[in-house]
Amino acid sequence: MPEASTRHRAERAVVIGGGVAGLVAAVELAQRGAEVALLEGAAQLGGRARTHHVGGFSFNQGAHALYVGGAFHAALKRFAIAIHGKPPATNGTSMALYRGKLGVLPRSLASLARSGLLSVGDKLTFVRIQSFIKDGERPSGSFAAWLDGERLSPALRATIEAFARLSTYGNAPADMSAAATLDQMRMAMQGVIYVDGGWSALIDGLATRARSTGVEIRTGASVVSIETGHSGVRVKLTDGDAIGASTVLLAVSPNEAYKLLPVASLQQAVEQAIPARANVLDLGLERLPENAVTRVQGIDRALYLSLHSDAAKLTPDGGALIHIARYLAPDEKPEADAIAELEALADVALPGWRALERQRQRLIGMPVSHGVPRWNARRPGVRLSDASGVFIAGDWVGDSGMISDAAAASGAEAAKAMLAHSTAMVRAA
Ligand SMILES: Cc1cc2nc3c(=O)[nH]c(=O)nc-3n(C[C@H](O)[C@H](O)[C@H](O)COP(=O)(O)OP(=O)(O)OC[C@H]3O[C@@H](n4cnc5c(N)ncnc54)[C@H](O)[C@@H]3O)c2cc1C
Repeated sequence: MPEASTRHRAERAVVIGGGVAGLVAAVELAQRGAEVALLEGAAQLGGRARTHHVGGFSFNQGAHALYVGGAFHAALKRFAIAIHGKPPATNGTSMALYRGKLGVLPRSLASLARSGLLSVGDKLTFVRIQSFIKDGERPSGSFAAWLDGERLSPALRATIEAFARLSTYGNAPADMSAAATLDQMRMAMQGVIYVDGGWSALIDGLATRARSTGVEIRTGASVVSIETGHSGVRVKLTDGDAIGASTVLLAVSPNEAYKLLPVASLQQAVEQAIPARANVLDLGLERLPENAVTRVQGIDRALYLSLHSDAAKLTPDGGALIHIARYLAPDEKPEADAIAELEALADVALPGWRALERQRQRLIGMPVSHGVPRWNARRPGVRLSDASGVFIAGDWVGDSGMISDAAAASGAEAAKAMLAHSTAMVRAA
């Protein structure tokens, strides 16, 4: 076994994890003059924001929409990274799946008027609730408790829950904060972008910006442990190498963070995190079938189907890329027939799709977020109280936003906290 080489740099920041959180943090750190090394265990950067390119199709890890009002979009703009893509097309057919039948999905006043899903009284209440959300109301307690207080009919309640699932990817109304859920629904109303070439285009932009600001990026560099001490933090890699740093960012899942550094604050983070998970079937078709329904929102079942290639360049000429998902409740185990359920939805929406299938991607029990915002516990902050010099970021960290926006916001916040820590160490020396 070769002796581990240890390189110590007092001002050095090491970022572990090359997903959205780690890359945003690395750029923020480097732009403010820190010497940064980013270690990514996988062969490629991006984490859950990577894109699988196969046969001319660009598969994100399930349906990915960039929220124009969110912290990830703001970070990309701040770093002057170009975003090519478009909002979802409005000329497709959007339907609601309720009691096994497709009906008009109430998305606009016109479709609300036509929809048979809701009674006249429910439609008026739906408009009132939309205004309540737009007005910036932030009820306390859980999302389920807020819905209880509204005394909605079963159909209207299921409709509001479906729109909440769509914007948060969470299927945990009893656990999720009502305020955070409504914040996210409000942000979704500002619009989203489907990105040309998939989210790897955004990751490539971040990696290019990171390298140009001096970040050393190492892929295939898996970290096995970190140790804290008076002289800083020591990061050990699987290949036996070790790197010394003044600050380290764990931009990984809560479980992985706790595995690398088993301290009480991370144990608590693991115990308190409620993940949002999904079963996903992504289909690359030779073309869109005739009479296809391009978006289906499950109302009484936590299902979703959406064509992304009508807005973004994701396929060979003439092709179609469709994302289908089931939002899993916190304790729900993916069933053995998870994919059959998603294929059955494709049968309803995309007549004849099986003969047109060219590529597919399946993700079972895929973590969309490692920690949704809870109503009765805060997500952990970026600083660890029991590990000096070690910080955390990811979609399970901090009070700001959800999914990739939480990852970007906590990455940026962690970078600032790391710089402040290094400055304080230098002053104390
Ligand atoms: C189906 C699906 C749909 C989604 N839809 C949306 C959407 O529409 N909009 C949106 O904003 N977000 C969406 N998301 C969420 C978004 O992808 C994530 O929130 C975001 O990518 C998380 O970034 P992260 O950096 O926190 O974590 P990750 O992407 O998980 O990155 C962590 C990285 O750390 C690396 N790593 C782990 N352990 C180690 C180690 N020991 N050493 C070195 N490296 C290590 C991993 O390989 C990984 O690259 C979706 C996710 C899924 C799965």
